[in-house]
Amino acid sequence: MDGSWRTGDKPMRVFIVHAHHEPTSFNAAMTGEAVKTLRSAGHEVVVSDLYAMGFDPVSDRRNFTTVVDPNRLKQQDEEAYASKHSGYSAELQAEIDKLAWCDVLIFQFPIWWLGLPAILKGWVDRVFTVGHAYGGGRWFDGGVLAGKRAMCALTVGGLDPVYSEEGVYGPIEAILYPVHRGIFAFTGFAVIAPFVVYGPNRIDDAVRADYLDQYRKRLLTLPSAPTIPGPVMADYDGFVRKKPQQNAAALNK
Ligand SMILES: Cc1cc2nc3c(=O)[nH]c(=O)nc-3n(C[C@H](O)[C@H](O)[C@H](O)COP(=O)(O)OP(=O)(O)OC[C@H]3O[C@@H](n4cnc5c(N)ncnc54)[C@H](O)[C@@H]3O)c2cc1C
Repeated sequence: MDGSWRTGDKPMRVFIVHAHHEPTSFNAAMTGEAVKTLRSAGHEVVVSDLYAMGFDPVSDRRNFTTVVDPNRLKQQDEEAYASKHSGYSAELQAEIDKLAWCDVLIFQFPIWWLGLPAILKGWVDRVFTVGHAYGGGRWFDGGVLAGKRAMCALTVGGLDPVYSEEGVYGPIEAILYPVHRGIFAFTGFAVIAPFVVYGPNRIDDAVRADYLDQYRKRLLTLPSAPTIPGPVMADYDGFVRKKPQQNAAALNK
């Protein structure tokens, strides 16, 4: 899939990683709407409901059925080996397969401490592995997962002024930078602008219904929805700093 892919060309394969413990939450409503809307439009959807699955976010030797060094655990070395020798636990391999399968990855979560809930962060720690998500000099526009798109769909406790330039937390894009740049873009995903619901427990039913309506619309435009520009590695030098001409070009803009 690339930027020119359009709804109707072929079914989109969408993988939703859902990280909320309450089935009647607004997050659950968003995932429910996503499944219904996308399937009705002919797309394929797979959901990993992390709490319902009892997903263990703790990354350790249990990730692997193979062993490189029994005396010292170096996760990235074990992953590089496991990726070549089918050495992941069944639980992890199933998630790795879903990641490889999808055209679009959606993280559905409530913001916790201005970040991902631990269960979702742990899912990334364990599932985004050397070999299947990064490694071998493959990153950003040359990343292992290049050609796929990813989006955060999230709720936050505060209303939008709290997340404005003047707001106490500042803009949501800055808060999501570790996910957008450090997880999605790093592994090659094109990063779709996030869909944010501000203060779902502070707004009335009509505004919540409007958010769900806007979300349905966003879901149907996933292939063409605006993306956040990521780094192009040819613009960077051997120290992974922007080359001077790229800095000059940026200043002249
Ligand atoms: C550990 C922790 C840390 C946190 N850190 C932060 C932080 O750093 N910054 C911040 O801003 N917030 C923070 N919060 C708040 C948190 O982000 C919000 O509580 C959360 O995003 C709200 O989303 P929810 O899905 O849980 O909403 P819910 O409270 O489950 O739902 C909101 C409302 O939507 C209603 N609803 C459910 N389904 C539907 C439907 N189909 N149609 C219409 N209405 C529906 C529910 O009945 C409820 O009234 C934190 C919370 C916790 C627990």
